[in-house]
Amino acid sequence: MTSTQPKYPGSSDRPFYFARSEICVDSDGECIGDGVFAGEDFEAGTHIYALKRPLAGSLDTERLVDTCANCYVWTEGSSIGSRLYVKEGTKVQTCAGCKRFRYCSKSCQREAWNRGHKHECKNLRAVADRDIPKAVMAAMEILIRRKNGLIPDHAWEMLLRLDSHIEDFKANGKYGGIELMALGTSQFSFTQDTFSKDFVAEMYGRVLTNSLTIVTPSYDPLGIMIDPILAHINHSCEPNVYLVMDGAEVDIRSLRPLKKDEELFVSYVDNTNPYARRQSELKSRWFFNCKCSKCQKGATLQEDKWAIQPRDLEQKWKEVADMMIGNEDFATDPANFVGDSPDWRRVAALQGKAFAMYEDEQRVADPHQAIKEIEDGMRLCYQSKLWHIYRQPYAAFRDDLIVNMLAVQKYSIAFSQCAKRYRYILPKLYPEVAHPTRVVQTWQTAMLALFVASTEGALGMAQPGVDFPLIALMLLNEAHMLSAKSHGEN
Ligand SMILES: [Zn+2]
Ligand SMILES: [Zn+2]
Ligand SMILES: [Zn+2]
Repeated sequence: MTSTQPKYPGSSDRPFYFARSEICVDSDGECIGDGVFAGEDFEAGTHIYALKRPLAGSLDTERLVDTCANCYVWTEGSSIGSRLYVKEGTKVQTCAGCKRFRYCSKSCQREAWNRGHKHECKNLRAVADRDIPKAVMAAMEILIRRKNGLIPDHAWEMLLRLDSHIEDFKANGKYGGIELMALGTSQFSFTQDTFSKDFVAEMYGRVLTNSLTIVTPSYDPLGIMIDPILAHINHSCEPNVYLVMDGAEVDIRSLRPLKKDEELFVSYVDNTNPYARRQSELKSRWFFNCKCSKCQKGATLQEDKWAIQPRDLEQKWKEVADMMIGNEDFATDPANFVGDSPDWRRVAALQGKAFAMYEDEQRVADPHQAIKEIEDGMRLCYQSKLWHIYRQPYAAFRDDLIVNMLAVQKYSIAFSQCAKRYRYILPKLYPEVAHPTRVVQTWQTAMLALFVASTEGALGMAQPGVDFPLIALMLLNEAHMLSAKSHGEN
């Protein structure tokens, strides 16, 4: 049962409300957590709410040098089509005090200063050369601002209502690490006089398990943010809302129609992944067994379908898989589970290998090296004949291939990969035409076609029968129409 008691002060002007969620249940089926519910009906593509900025945010270490720590404008966004929103000539300047944060303007610096930076800048100077983890920085920001009266009571109470998962960390053996990080958080923030050791550990646990990713309008990750309103939106692998960021503003938009009193869900994970992988990721990072509408259907949907039956795997690939089963534990990792027979275990091993290769290439900074590893991964998916073109991580490899081909200026390869994705993958993975990922990737294809159209003569990329200017125009038109739905008119 849901109730509308005003447990959260100041929430009456919002088109949603907080109540007990039926999706958050303990092992006895008792409701144990809150969720966010629609206060009225919403059509698909509705802008439900604009949050001016999340309560706290913390940039990735690599982004501190090229991103404004106040408005999150990323000055060096690399891929074509992802920088439309960055004004030409935008630069960031280092805070002379702490030498850690950079700002794009005096007004951004002033805003951040008044929001709380004035209470930490001097202390941060002493640790200017230290790489402090982003979750520690976020927890520090919260504690320093609360200590100095800069977080109002209602936001603070909502924040404390979020689960810290300390008991889960104690159970999985990671509490030692949490304690250590909490110690650093206390010391660097000079808040030991205000908050106890256990309280800081809980706050750090809250940041780890309730933060969301700060992204550009085209979904490039920049850091983490924590906000008590956003953190109350529960997960579903079949979400009905999504978040779009424009600078520090976070918009909640509907992906599909919502009825009044329906619970809002976002997806915490890549929901195009197979069932067992989603379950495993949600369990290990957020400590719950997902029972969403999609997971209730188990491993029966498109993202779990293989292109061939496991018994039809070619002999060569059976041998490759058997060798992996001997050397690595992919086949026994629950995240790769596909079935119990020896044939299925081979498929699990190959799938585990593909995901491991995907995770490895994501950590590679040099684009040439990344391309090599991505191509190895794609070859495994392609040559084993197991993967459909849209099955993960085959599709995710292709996304990374495009980004890295752009980084090394191989535009014609990037374009042909984009075209393949546009034609064969996007409609499968994102059937809603105004799905934000689909729209962003259509934009990317359009911008690339436009670029190729304007330079094809110079680059020798002219191809008979391919009318790049026309393709560019059609894609731009489509992207423009759809982005009004996914990202708003502006
Ligand atoms: Zn700025
Ligand atoms: Zn500073
Ligand atoms: Zn699920």
